Amino acid sequence: MRTARRIDKLPPYLFAEIDRKVAEARARGADIISFGVGDPDLPTPGHIIDALTEAARDPGTHRYPSYTGMPSFREAITGWYADRFGVTLDADAEVQPLVGSKEGIFHLPVAFVDPGQVALIPDPGYPVYETGTLLAGGDVHLMPLVADRGFTPDFEAIPSEVLERSTVMWLNYPSNPTSATVDKEFFERAVQFCRAHDLLLAHDAAYTEITFDGYVAPSVLEVEGAMDCAVEFHSLSKTYNMTGWRVGWVCGATQAIEAIKRLKTNIDSGIFDALQRAGIAALQGPQEVLAETVARYQHRRDLLCDGLKSMGIVVEPPRGSIYLWVPVPEGHTSESFTTFLLDEVDIVVAPGTGYGPTGEGFVRFSLTLADERLEEGVERLRGVVT
Ligand SMILES: *Cc1c(COP(=O)(O)O)cnc(C)c1O
Repeated sequence: MRTARRIDKLPPYLFAEIDRKVAEARARGADIISFGVGDPDLPTPGHIIDALTEAARDPGTHRYPSYTGMPSFREAITGWYADRFGVTLDADAEVQPLVGSKEGIFHLPVAFVDPGQVALIPDPGYPVYETGTLLAGGDVHLMPLVADRGFTPDFEAIPSEVLERSTVMWLNYPSNPTSATVDKEFFERAVQFCRAHDLLLAHDAAYTEITFDGYVAPSVLEVEGAMDCAVEFHSLSKTYNMTGWRVGWVCGATQAIEAIKRLKTNIDSGIFDALQRAGIAALQGPQEVLAETVARYQHRRDLLCDGLKSMGIVVEPPRGSIYLWVPVPEGHTSESFTTFLLDEVDIVVAPGTGYGPTGEGFVRFSLTLADERLEEGVERLRGVVT
């Protein structure tokens, strides 16, 4: 059997080696505390589960769903967008439901990056921007995100010969893994730049609803001119603790949505209607659970920031996301510190370099574990970090 060359181009899976070590440690009875994966530990709110079970009993949901999603789900999305961002979207032409936003993020380059063309990708960033581009046969240009610039890319640093071949720019705020946030003014500059260089601006908005200290994350589509050049990816996963359900959407520029629709009719057959009805319940139902979720993350953020600070590791409390982006102690690299924590105190973190070369010198702590475990983790760290 021969595998295709494109599979060889895929970088090794970020968590593969860690997973192996964790399995080994667990097999010898270790009590692992994982700050590794960003998968919400809190359950999906009950009213959303009720909506699913009720809809699942309705035979009207049992046949192939529509490729373009239920009109009522798309309208729930446009209603939510209008309330949340003050952005008016056309539910037919400017919204496409996705089988989880990762699905759409992965597929976007198939529609927008030809071989020889380039996608501009944040480094560090969510690995799917790169793998999707590579599998589509496109080239990747990494935009380094450094603390000095608030983890935003320097558009002027992109070489002009790269820009000429570029068709897509990815952004993600609040950011995974850096937890950086931006204000609308940054999106204005990004939209201006993408319009000037004829780029599709693809904004991954997975964490816009997980924000702290009164900060409200903007949508890129709030910016004038964005509807001509930008799309935004959203997901129910982090907002409503629904990672297992696989429901997301992309919305924005008509031409881009049209291309994505065309592509997707050839790939999948839509989202189970019962899940879409649950999605409507999520977007239109009571939002108190979201406020509670956010309050919990904020509390965990503070526990971890305070704990690290008491060990001399200073992390400015982020305004959003479910992560802390933590500099490693002197003498360590991202990988050596990750291995050190696992070997010495049975703690799992994600090495910054797993998200791109500029992630060197950092590890990512996820806040998706109970307070007691988090506190136990801090105590273990205190024992080995000085
Ligand atoms: C979790 C995450 C997603 C994926 O969300 P799904 O809708 O569950 O596929 C997308 N982008 C970023 C940056 C994420 O962290």
